[in-house]
Amino acid sequence: MLSVKPDFYDNFKCIADKCRHSCCVAWEIDIDEDSLRRFMAVEGEFGEYMRRNIELEPSPHFVLADEERCPFLQDNGLCKMILTLGEDSICHICREHPRFYNELPGRIEAGLGLCCEEAARLLLEGREHLSLVTDGVDEGVEDELLELRDEIFAILREDDLSFTARMEKALDIFGMEPLDLDVEAIKELYLGLERLDEDWTKKLNTLAPVELEPALSKMRYLRLAEYFIYRHFASAPDEYEAALRLQFAFLSTRLICAMDMLTDDNEATRLYSSEIEYSDENVDKILDYIDEKNSLT
Ligand code: SF4
Repeated sequence: MLSVKPDFYDNFKCIADKCRHSCCVAWEIDIDEDSLRRFMAVEGEFGEYMRRNIELEPSPHFVLADEERCPFLQDNGLCKMILTLGEDSICHICREHPRFYNELPGRIEAGLGLCCEEAARLLLEGREHLSLVTDGVDEGVEDELLELRDEIFAILREDDLSFTARMEKALDIFGMEPLDLDVEAIKELYLGLERLDEDWTKKLNTLAPVELEPALSKMRYLRLAEYFIYRHFASAPDEYEAALRLQFAFLSTRLICAMDMLTDDNEATRLYSSEIEYSDENVDKILDYIDEKNSLT
């Protein structure tokens, strides 16, 4: 079995108190069975504090404190549980976030979700195309979607072409053309999805027609498109769905580029990831929109 990870994976370290958008705020944190057993056995005052802040129904989770903060998140941004019981004490979800794993034929692919500002920084600041680091035994399992993904990655590396030309060439493999960036229709679609953060709504409302090239051909957007393709393409159930996900990767990258050009806080990638990528329902609705547009061409 091969394990695969993107080039920036091993450089990740949670920036804890330096993080401006901590994942310990606004997310209800579920507690896995093993951790719950350990938490229930912690003695003394801290054990009592832990148990006061755990609710067992509908499934075990920490009770959020004021301003939806994790009850262990201190004002200085550090985790009281880590400081008291050590790094190994935290539950599975806290240990793993923002990592994700895709099980594919003959391999497990790991990655870092861009809803984490540090993961997004590491991806976007890379100076070379996204490369994949492999480890383990290659069992020679063949997979059509992984082969197609390699073909797409090779096209994205053709640095003598603009991003737009590379996108057209990659979509042509599936007989598709890039989606028309009809700003009003895109705004209506995204504003109609579930939204969590006011800043995301503001960001969507800034969208306006804008010439994306040459900014879109910068390495940060190539790496972003490569990341979306790495995360979403090869786990599709069939080739058509994979092609829709390729369109999704390019649409997402172009929208983020437009938002970056129209505002100057560089927050679009993190917000896009947490509002869209982390909601299967939102991704499915965007894929339905792409499917509908594609069937009209
Ligand atoms: S969002 Fe990322 S950097 Fe911030 S606290 Fe969570 S894991 Fe750490």
